[in-house]
Amino acid sequence: MGNGIWVYFDDTDLNNTQNTYGILGKARVLSESLDSSVIAFGIGNFNEEEISALYRYGADEVFLNGFSVTPSGEEYAFIADQVVSQYKPDLMIFPSTEMGKEVSARLSITQRAGLTADCIDITRTQTGNSFIYSRAAINSSIIAQIECVNSNTGLCTVKENIFNSLISIYKSKSEVKYYERPMTWKPACKGKVELISKREAQGIETIDFTTSKVIMGAGRGLQKPEEFELFIEVAKKYNCEYGGTRALVESGVLKKNRQIGQSGISICPDIYVAFGISGATQHIAGMKESKLVIAVNIKPDAPIFRYANYAIVSDAVSILQQMAGNY
Ligand SMILES: Cc1cc2nc3c(=O)[nH]c(=O)nc-3n(C[C@H](O)[C@H](O)[C@H](O)COP(=O)(O)OP(=O)(O)OC[C@H]3O[C@@H](n4cnc5c(N)ncnc54)[C@H](O)[C@@H]3O)c2cc1C
Repeated sequence: MGNGIWVYFDDTDLNNTQNTYGILGKARVLSESLDSSVIAFGIGNFNEEEISALYRYGADEVFLNGFSVTPSGEEYAFIADQVVSQYKPDLMIFPSTEMGKEVSARLSITQRAGLTADCIDITRTQTGNSFIYSRAAINSSIIAQIECVNSNTGLCTVKENIFNSLISIYKSKSEVKYYERPMTWKPACKGKVELISKREAQGIETIDFTTSKVIMGAGRGLQKPEEFELFIEVAKKYNCEYGGTRALVESGVLKKNRQIGQSGISICPDIYVAFGISGATQHIAGMKESKLVIAVNIKPDAPIFRYANYAIVSDAVSILQQMAGNY
């Protein structure tokens, strides 16, 4: 250990910065227990503001490779491979973006290193010289803890928004330096693979849960359709994004892309308000990074209260009606 924890990002996903800041926050925590440093490793072109934000959110150093050609996974993986071979990071963490997944997969081949995809946590081994990656496995029925042996650099991708960014400013830009290191790109597959065009998927609602500071969650405690409609009305009134449990997805009330939890999305808002949610471990896995949790449940011993900063023992519908101003 000693070559740092590297956080990969690139210019194909600039609207995913909150996720990168969260990964930097996790890298910071890991690095402090290892007395190591955090290096934000970016491929692409970035402006001053984007770079200084990386320092504020936990990077000791920003390592950039500016490229002006069309981004391709093969090319970015080539750059990453050169960097890993030269600097031998202890760990390189990738976001679960399209490019992050492709680059990490290619890198795991060229570096002959194990890659753990879609992690929900990363910890050190007891000896401190390797990492343990947690991820859902066997159709999300268990959380597996994986250690990759026989490689100097650990590789993993992390599920979106699984880690919280640092609340405080870590370092100001003036205290650290960054530099560009251009490289020559030699495509291995030139002429064999060509990107002809790209098309956006139609009819899929894309929800950005990172921009909403307050997210409301609904569970089976909201049993009737009109109760769920009231929940949506309140979410709209307070300008909140909303999601819920798998129980509501299975009953057809909630769309799958709004399912919060182990087999759904992960969120880390400032405030999560849970209405009629029991607090099953699979749901908690997706909202445990919320900074403040308010839970409304009719049962005083509901497990969700163990994770709540504020517990409201009450009928969720009556609370929602008060919030909607219907009283
Ligand atoms: C492989 C696998 C993966 C899974 N992945 C996920 C996942 O990603 N996300 C997820 O959420 N779940 C997931 N689950 C399901 C999970 O185990 C739970 O079954 C689910 O989270 C329960 O949803 P719920 O809290 O809405 O329902 P319930 O467990 O039925 O809880 C309803 C709660 O509402 C309360 N309540 C009832 N009436 C009221 C009222 N009027 N006012 C207030 N409170 C009331 C009850 O006291 C109860 O606590 C997964 C399960 C498996 C096996």
